[in-house]
Amino acid sequence: MIYDSLPVLCRKCLDKEIPEKELLEYLDDYVRSLPAEKRVDEPVYNLRLSKCAECGHRLGYTCTLCGCYVQTRAAKKNMRCPIPGYPKWTENAHDEGD
Ligand code: SF4
Repeated sequence: MIYDSLPVLCRKCLDKEIPEKELLEYLDDYVRSLPAEKRVDEPVYNLRLSKCAECGHRLGYTCTLCGCYVQTRAAKKNMRCPIPGYPKWTENAHDEGD
C-alpha cells in the first residue's frame, strides 16, 4: 500500500534540510497517497487549511500544539484541530469551528 511505503522522516530535520518546495511536494504527495476512505474531500481540506493559516498555533507548516504538519492532519477524516474545548475544525465536516 502506498500509504505505508512512504519513508518516515524526522520533522525537525526535514524542516532544516529540505528546501520548502521539496517539503511541500512531499506533503502534497503524502496527502494524495492517503486512501480515499481516509481522506477528506478537497473543499473540506481547503477549509481546514484556511483555519490553520489564520491560527496563532501554526509555525510554518507545523501545528505547534500537536507537532503535525497541518496538511497531513487536515487531510484525514478522523482528525480534528487539537485545541482543547474549542477546535477550529473537527472530524465532522459540517462542524467547522472558528
Ligand atoms: S490544527 Fe488547529 S491549532 Fe493546529 S494550526 Fe490548525 S487550527 Fe491551529
